[in-house]
Amino acid sequence: KLDTNDYIAYMMETKEVIGGQKDYITELDATTGDGDHWANLYMGFEKITGMSEDLKTLNISDLLKKIGMTMFSAIGGSSGALYGSGYVAAAKAIQNENDLTINSLYTMLDAMLKAIMERGKTQPGQKTMVDSLYNALVCYRKGLEANKDEKDIIEMFINGAKEGAENTKNMEAARGRASYRTDKGVGHLDPGAVTMALQLECLGNYIL
Ligand code: ADP
Ligand code: MG
Ligand code: MG
Repeated sequence: KLDTNDYIAYMMETKEVIGGQKDYITELDATTGDGDHWANLYMGFEKITGMSEDLKTLNISDLLKKIGMTMFSAIGGSSGALYGSGYVAAAKAIQNENDLTINSLYTMLDAMLKAIMERGKTQPGQKTMVDSLYNALVCYRKGLEANKDEKDIIEMFINGAKEGAENTKNMEAARGRASYRTDKGVGHLDPGAVTMALQLECLGNYIL
């Protein structure tokens, strides 16, 4: 179970993890995009973790909504609007929950995925952040349907997130800046998929 304080603690940890990947992520986006993805995302995390005292008073749904609104305003580039929409939809999906359980966490992430896909007019397989979240949730659902232990489900989810990001390497980009390139970014990882996987991995590890 995750409550508001857990989710804030997870965001703090993730900020540190993303902070440590500055050169790697910047290089990925410089290769197939415009090089600002790390700076965009990190700015969002700095803003959110900087408000953590105010956030602690919110219930989990209002917290996710606040994170979404902050990402909308603080993160430049495509990822701000995508994460903004994702978090706002996630908040709505768990409006009546007091905390995130193994079931409501799935509901929340699935709502996030659908909102990002809608906002980005994106499907899985188009070499974006969607590929990591989508694959993570396919694995998560398999775990839930097989009635696995929570720990096993979360491990499947983490591996799915990583695998989804790795799969973008051989994909042709149909969305985002890499799609404007003649090579469609083939042979390079999508930066947004890599940072999505980092976040999901941190979330999974926080639960484990
Ligand atoms: P920008 O491309 O505007 O500079 P960022 O660099 O912050 O924005 O984010 C780029 C990432 O956003 C890409 O690597 C990709 O994962 C994701 N992305 C871009 N466009 C879309 C889209 N239409 N749908 C889903 N994800 C997208
Ligand atoms: Mg960029
Ligand atoms: Mg940009």
